[in-house]
Amino acid sequence: MQSCHVAFAGNPNAGKTTLFNNVTGSRQHVGNYPGITVERKEGRLIHQETELNIVDLPGCYSLTAYTQEELVARQVLVEERPELVVNVVDATKLERHLYLTIQFMELGAPILLALNMMDDVRNKGMSIDLKKLAKGMGCPVVGTVARSGEGKPELLDRIIEAAEDQSTWQPLQISYGPDIDPVLETLITAIEQHQFLTQRYPSRWLAIKYLEDDEQIIEQGRKENPSIADELNSIVENLRDHCAKTLNSFPEAIIADYRYGFIHSLLKRGIVTYPEDVERMD
Ligand code: GDP
Ligand code: MG
Repeated sequence: MQSCHVAFAGNPNAGKTTLFNNVTGSRQHVGNYPGITVERKEGRLIHQETELNIVDLPGCYSLTAYTQEELVARQVLVEERPELVVNVVDATKLERHLYLTIQFMELGAPILLALNMMDDVRNKGMSIDLKKLAKGMGCPVVGTVARSGEGKPELLDRIIEAAEDQSTWQPLQISYGPDIDPVLETLITAIEQHQFLTQRYPSRWLAIKYLEDDEQIIEQGRKENPSIADELNSIVENLRDHCAKTLNSFPEAIIADYRYGFIHSLLKRGIVTYPEDVERMD
């Protein structure tokens, strides 16, 4: 029988565990990640003659190296390379939750968006155009209500479909504007030229992590090749000075602003409709 490794991931309180329990039932196993207190929850099921091995990742808001949960999430994605990441999001809070989605995509993870809490969406009188969202994000989207099991059959079908057909993935690449983009390109060129950490991570993601001053990546970089690490650090320092002097800002903040800007302009294009929008159209 074919088998497939799938990770459930997303912000805390998106309904990941509820969906995970609903999908895997009692076929679960709880352990720990080595050396830390974060729980590792795994479960499995068989659907369409494929065994799905699912890991429920700890909830996180970002993929920086600030918390154990974030580090575990990205470590699983990088080292275990699940065939599919089911990114469970609270559909009533798309603007906030897609921030993490963008980071999964930049890490090169194949994503299926499970838009959970669709009951709350309806109760609030909102509506979401799933097809338009799928097109805008470049990944499949399924609506679910984890509590009731609504959307589960479609979700399982789409998981199999998406995991089998990796060719349709379009990695998302968003612009970080005129101050950051050219520096990103310079970093990427240096990273690729020296194949610096590229066995494990996509080069663009590494470049972004350098700009975000990511402790874990910078530490790994120093061990891998100190002279390249110095070269990258000095490029980043120059940008830092430039941002401070001319924008009164810093790269991490600008990167976050552009991510939210991307999401905001995407959602504005008729993807989410609020009750007040409908009244206005009448
Ligand atoms: P996690 O932190 O992502 O694992 O989220 P949980 O599965 O613990 O769910 C957080 C809360 O949302 C719980 O109170 C769930 O009962 C509730 N919840 C989960 N899915 C749904 C849903 O589809 N609709 C509604 N209304 N509530 C949900
Ligand atoms: Mg949970």
